[in-house]
Amino acid sequence: MTTENKNQPNQKLPHQLAGAGGLIAILGAGESGVGAAYLAQQQGYDVFVSDFGAIADNYKKQLQDWNIRFEENQHTEAEILNAIEVVKSPGIPEKAPIIKKLRAQGTPVISEIEFAGRYTDAKIIGITGSNGKTTTTTLTYEILKHAGLNVGLAGNIGQSFAYQVATEKFDIYVLELSSFMLDDMYKLRVNIAMLLNITPDHLDRYEYKMENYAASKFRISQNQTADDVFIYCADDPETIKGMAGRSFAAQLFPFSIEKTVEQGAFLDQDNIVINTHQEHFTMSIHDLALQGKHNLYNSMASGVAAKYLEIRNPVLRESMSSIKPIEHRMESVAVISGISFINDSKATNVNSTWYALESMTSDVILILGGVDKGNDYTMLRSLVKQKVKAIVCLGKDNKRIHDAFEDIVEVIVNTHSAQEAATVSYHLATKGDTVLLSPACASFDLFKNYEDRGRQFKQAVKEL
Ligand code: ADP
Repeated sequence: MTTENKNQPNQKLPHQLAGAGGLIAILGAGESGVGAAYLAQQQGYDVFVSDFGAIADNYKKQLQDWNIRFEENQHTEAEILNAIEVVKSPGIPEKAPIIKKLRAQGTPVISEIEFAGRYTDAKIIGITGSNGKTTTTTLTYEILKHAGLNVGLAGNIGQSFAYQVATEKFDIYVLELSSFMLDDMYKLRVNIAMLLNITPDHLDRYEYKMENYAASKFRISQNQTADDVFIYCADDPETIKGMAGRSFAAQLFPFSIEKTVEQGAFLDQDNIVINTHQEHFTMSIHDLALQGKHNLYNSMASGVAAKYLEIRNPVLRESMSSIKPIEHRMESVAVISGISFINDSKATNVNSTWYALESMTSDVILILGGVDKGNDYTMLRSLVKQKVKAIVCLGKDNKRIHDAFEDIVEVIVNTHSAQEAATVSYHLATKGDTVLLSPACASFDLFKNYEDRGRQFKQAVKEL
């Protein structure tokens, strides 16, 4: 395995950066902002953290403990516009007035990932896509850790990349990268990039244009060189369309379950086959711990990265057959009176619900609904017709779900709490059925977030 620094474009030392020691403003005091503040201070910058909303108590305490200046519920423009560079939380949209003003005066605005990348020479594995990021990031990390590598896990997951760069000495990072993080990433070189798929999501931030959203995803490859690797799904039409108009410096490794590929991963009957240069690996899909077609893709992507890094076959096989299901992602909750309950609360768009349904082998009571970001439910209709006995709506306004399915599903019931949804589903199900919470919608109408929705559902199932 090559371990030399592959991150050359980022290797400016702090004193070579324009205005080192000057003021860095950090917008948004969540996990990434607070981590970036810590790293910036460590690197000798004057740091000012500003959040337009309230800052959570734990983050406030950290900033106080580290003597970092901060404000909440406001943006003091005089201070922020004076910064030599701004690190912005991925949650802040371009249209926020403070961002518009920074852009107008030409202040560089970057993501925490970009900032932290300057201060590490670790090899970077970056994972993006509309669905499957957390699963694939976790799986890749677990494989590398199991292989004994000194590896960190960061990005949109766990502790911030910046804080880890400031406090740890990892040789490799596995980073989950959302499109918002990629939007403000300019120079970071991703040595092993994975683009899992591109399906409509967050289009409100991309002028409702698929090509803008896709362009954001492809930024993951923008600084790659011939020594790097780009792993992508050859079965995904939007990925293929986007690749057609772009050039790639990196070595390309496709993965597919529809066709054979020379280098990369494919399916040979019931076996995953992975070929990367001198490396060859096969494994029965029945031995994979993460089941379902979507996880076949995720396992292939992780497997290609692992084989490229020359992880030994037995280690890879062990990891892929033993990884624990990740909370809220096709997580088995319980079997009660022969009825299985599955928590897939993280399915916040139609595409992920499609994969959840696709993997079902029994009749399904499907719990759907929440905040609908302009969903087009047509792609679900054929699977719903085949597998779904009843739909239990879990949202404030369920009209669009009724409209989309009332001609093909006899029973559609409205519920307004996780407890009600679990109880109603239980009554509608018979032995051998599956109750699947895979809502295809965000959760903010009735819950704090998808985790809260999933946890309340699991609690309700346990109380049945
Ligand atoms: P992300 O981090 O991109 O949101 P997750 O790994 O958290 O992705 O999975 C989110 C949801 O998407 C899960 O509910 C899962 O069922 C579904 N999913 C996971 N991997 C894929 C994939 N490769 N393609 C489509 N859907 C997927």
